[in-house]
Amino acid sequence: MRFSDIYGNEAVKQRLRAMVDDDHIPHALLLHGPTGTGKLAMARAFAQYLHCTDRHDGEPCGKCPNCLAHQSLNHADTYFVFPVIKQGTSDKYIAEWRDFLTRYRFESYQRWQAVLKSENAQPMIYVTESESIIHKMNLAAFTAPYKVMIIWLPEKMNEGCANKLLKIIEEPSSDSIFVLVSDDESKVLPTIYSRVQRVEMKPVPTPEVARYLEEAEAIDPDTAMALAAIAEGDIVAAEESLKLDSEQRDFFTQFVDLMRKAYSRDFKGLRQWSEKVSDYKREKCCRFLEASARLLRENFIFNVGDRSLCYLRPEEAKFSSRFAPFINERNVEAMAAELDSALRDIRGNANAKIVLFHFSLNIAKLIKA
Ligand SMILES: [Zn+2]
Repeated sequence: MRFSDIYGNEAVKQRLRAMVDDDHIPHALLLHGPTGTGKLAMARAFAQYLHCTDRHDGEPCGKCPNCLAHQSLNHADTYFVFPVIKQGTSDKYIAEWRDFLTRYRFESYQRWQAVLKSENAQPMIYVTESESIIHKMNLAAFTAPYKVMIIWLPEKMNEGCANKLLKIIEEPSSDSIFVLVSDDESKVLPTIYSRVQRVEMKPVPTPEVARYLEEAEAIDPDTAMALAAIAEGDIVAAEESLKLDSEQRDFFTQFVDLMRKAYSRDFKGLRQWSEKVSDYKREKCCRFLEASARLLRENFIFNVGDRSLCYLRPEEAKFSSRFAPFINERNVEAMAAELDSALRDIRGNANAKIVLFHFSLNIAKLIKA
């Protein structure tokens, strides 16, 4: 992993590089910040930079034996600890872990749960892990001057484990470095938290999220920018919304269809529309209504406010340039209330076909207000 593989957070990269370059490395670091900022990738780039025997221009060389070992996730002096299930230790799940890191440059607890196929269990760092950590950190370094122990999500560590680690984190051997990577520093046990040097990662700037989507996912620049704006600095969220994109396109088509038929008071068409949308499963129907609420809100902003504040995809913006004037101060609140009420009824198991038809008739009334 190279620092340049991480989008944004240039100041953090600078700080970590300087620690290595000046040989001023704290024994325990805590990288913390929101999900989707690439904290784990940052920890890995830091470890690789530290171990590289030919680092230059602020990057690991990518070619020396240490770099090659890092890149294949087999570096002998780099250990990973992460939440697991069934009272296990990280070593037992190392194959899944490598799969996880290979598949995702940007990590999240949910993605890890999916790799572990444990969406219903809450992976944890159990007390048994502490013995393994202490054992490893007491070994002599194999190939590099420093051993690095990357602990992902220390906030998932149980108290028994944390207590056993206090001493080694406070007084590690001179060749040991702990890098803790946390999504929520406020949940890291205070005994651990007080012993680490904290480095905060910020949400990724929107243009950087867009650049990632263009480079890594081959998304066109306009769509990338629109998705990035919605993601609010979280690359995982941007990637997830990309996955949802085909559903969102379908929802957008239904939204446009509804508004056209409502505007032209095509009651027969509205009945057909409500039948079609009620064919969605209940959960999908709710997601459609939520997506419609967003479109309504964005169209209102498009109409009355600053267009640069609108988070619309290009095809949505094209539609809005003609449609937005029909969403105004006189009807926006009532329309939003209709959406809310339909959402509530459908969640409450009411007949979706009836609710949606009733809802579409009310929209037809309001759209000409
Ligand atoms: Zn190297």
